[in-house]
Amino acid sequence: MSQFDVVILGGGSGGYACALRSAQLGLSVALIEEDKLGGTCLHRGCIPTKALLHAGEVADNTRHAGEFGVNAEFISIDMLAVSAYKDGVVSKLHKGLQGLVKSRNVTYIEGHGKLVGKNIVEVNGVQYTGKNIVLATGSYPKTLPGLNIDGQQIITSEHAIKMERVPASVIVLGGGVIGCEFASVWKSFGSEVTIIEGLPHLVALEDESSSKQLERAYRKRGINFELGVRFASATTSQSGVTVTLEDGKVFTAEVLLVAVGRGPVSANLGYEEQGLTMDRGYLIVDNKCRTNVPGIWAVGDLIPTLQLAHVGFAEGILVAEEIAGLNPRAINYDGVPRVTYSEPEVASVGLTTAQAKERGHDVVELNYDLAGNGKAQILKTAGSVKLVAAKNGPVLGIHMVGARVGELLAEAQLIFNWEAEASDVAALIHAHPTLSEAVGEAHLALAGKPLHAHG
Ligand SMILES: Cc1cc2nc3c(=O)[nH]c(=O)nc-3n(C[C@H](O)[C@H](O)[C@H](O)COP(=O)(O)OP(=O)(O)OC[C@H]3O[C@@H](n4cnc5c(N)ncnc54)[C@H](O)[C@@H]3O)c2cc1C
Repeated sequence: MSQFDVVILGGGSGGYACALRSAQLGLSVALIEEDKLGGTCLHRGCIPTKALLHAGEVADNTRHAGEFGVNAEFISIDMLAVSAYKDGVVSKLHKGLQGLVKSRNVTYIEGHGKLVGKNIVEVNGVQYTGKNIVLATGSYPKTLPGLNIDGQQIITSEHAIKMERVPASVIVLGGGVIGCEFASVWKSFGSEVTIIEGLPHLVALEDESSSKQLERAYRKRGINFELGVRFASATTSQSGVTVTLEDGKVFTAEVLLVAVGRGPVSANLGYEEQGLTMDRGYLIVDNKCRTNVPGIWAVGDLIPTLQLAHVGFAEGILVAEEIAGLNPRAINYDGVPRVTYSEPEVASVGLTTAQAKERGHDVVELNYDLAGNGKAQILKTAGSVKLVAAKNGPVLGIHMVGARVGELLAEAQLIFNWEAEASDVAALIHAHPTLSEAVGEAHLALAGKPLHAHG
């Protein structure tokens, strides 16, 4: 039996971040992974989808090159070449990560692990004992009753990422982040795309104004969507998939992507047997990611916090530091930056207007239209920066739509997390001409001294 300070089950964003930080703090660490180090984010999530989105952006730029006086012709998408580019990015990062884990003296164990005692994980018949056990087994794509995921015509994001052709038409079931990102990619690649969303808006967790702007932009791009109506059934035939909605409308397409959310990977792993408190498969933890069983921690998509890679990193680091006795500060989940990397991008941090009101704030809002921003005009992008603030108080939320606005979150999250007031930000000089000026201008306007803003 091998003994460690920390035994981590799952080598995705949450698990490997915990391993790297624990080792850095002088703890002995075992990291168990049954598939590939890096998990969903690196192999099936963040990185490959962003590579596909970038290829889509290149395609759109080629199509629109004439608008900038550049003679170019969009001919077609070579999906095999797109895949080679995407896989090249993933493979380089994978090698880098493997090297990092090795160089930090983390004991990397390949195989399927199961919790067989309160401090024991078993892999291939070998037991690994940890003074602390960190569960980081991640999530899987969910489906709906009556949907048979066949991997060909009815697919999840895991199949979509590996697709080696551009489908002529796609129905995307679910207008959340993952659904909207794939809709954006496929439209850029030339597919006919229809999104079906049961809630009243696309990216419904965002501020309503951001959702409405994304919907306007998608309408303009020719991405179809049906909102506020639920899926009833789907049938497949040689010619494609037919989807019927509860309002009786029928849609057909070559492929149906099911993007209705992700559920925790927690079944048959010994979690219930060891008495861990669970809810709908999620492990329940306190604000330091401690489960109800002393010495067992859980991080990442396995717990009911935001399903984002950087949340997994932060939780993994938090647990390592707590184990090492550093008493780190609990994570403020409102301060986590969120991006939908579609065209246009939707980015936010902090509270929506509705949330701020629910929490009893006397709310003021400021919308700065990117029409007044030089760089946005150069890029020919539309959108806005919206501020939600407490009257005579700090900024409570920043919500942005437009090309590349995800990059503006670096500043937006500092503003929110440092509880800055509009006048604090208005005093800072933003480089001209950049999109970041829109963040500066919004705060200037909210502080009562608008520069390039009407009204
Ligand atoms: C299509 C898509 C796009 C995404 N885009 C983004 C994005 O742009 N930005 C962002 O922040 N997030 C994004 N995400 C979310 C992000 O990928 C996840 O939040 C993140 O990967 C969660 O990390 P995790 O460590 O909790 O789980 P995972 O990354 O799922 O890792 C869990 C690991 O545990 C392993 N494992 C499970 N059970 C066992 C076992 N019994 N024994 C051994 N190993 C086991 C798995 O093989 C896996 O490698 C995206 C997700 C998807 C699906």
